[in-house]
Amino acid sequence: MFDLDNDGDLDIVTNDFNSAPQVLVSDLAQVRNIHWLKVVLIGTHSNRNGLGATVRVQAAGQTYTKYNDGKSGYLSQSVLPLYFGLGDATKIDLPALRFEYHSAPLEHLINNGKTIRVNYHAPGSGDYLVIGDARYQLTQFHFHHPSEEYVHGKPYDMVAHLMHEATDGTVVGVAVLLKAGAANPTVQQLWDHMPANVDYENDVPGVDINPANLLPQSLSYYTYMGSGTAPPCVEGVKWIVLETPVDVSREQIEAFAKLFPHDVRPTQPLNGRIVEESR
Ligand SMILES: [Zn+2]
Repeated sequence: MFDLDNDGDLDIVTNDFNSAPQVLVSDLAQVRNIHWLKVVLIGTHSNRNGLGATVRVQAAGQTYTKYNDGKSGYLSQSVLPLYFGLGDATKIDLPALRFEYHSAPLEHLINNGKTIRVNYHAPGSGDYLVIGDARYQLTQFHFHHPSEEYVHGKPYDMVAHLMHEATDGTVVGVAVLLKAGAANPTVQQLWDHMPANVDYENDVPGVDINPANLLPQSLSYYTYMGSGTAPPCVEGVKWIVLETPVDVSREQIEAFAKLFPHDVRPTQPLNGRIVEESR
């Protein structure tokens, strides 16, 4: 929240990690010790929203003061660690993701005129995303060209959206960013059997598919609350964007783009929403 190194963007002051107060500079990679840190909390809310603070910090021979009204940013709900949302990603401890996906016959492959999608109908896929104690069953996955997500201001070549639902109706979308590189065997299976007819669900005998093969090895992620990206764009969807992109070949991108040149919803303003990034 201070530009300590005068490079035009904001640095973060923290006393996380069981250490003395520190400054994380810009990209969080550099750490500098600071001499003292004074925080005066404003307001009575114990939650992230509505709790402001005045923070004074001395570093590099200067004293900086930052007033936060608790409306434009937020304060961590725990006293330690302490951090402010900057309207940008903040690295924090997020629960690990576990994908319990398995191989199954390729069924319900559909070209709905906007994308290629694999549907899983009742009783369900038996494929789960597990976050802590919560289990979300895979209900369908589909693709966009280019990606609907912008990371540091840029879209990727494509994105796969894996949509999950808990028994209480909570929806979690996982976005896997796709970039031009090596051919992707799982994508190839889908493209090879892409239905020519719109809105016709194809079962593909003799072909097994495992959605786990669409995932990167590293499961670090960004997360934010958003909405479905296709009409009616229902709100309350938790989005998880895996940070590590997965390769698809230039030919695979072009094959999809020929059918669906631009099947994306424009990016939406954050409107105070916090994007969190796992370590
Ligand atoms: Zn989508």
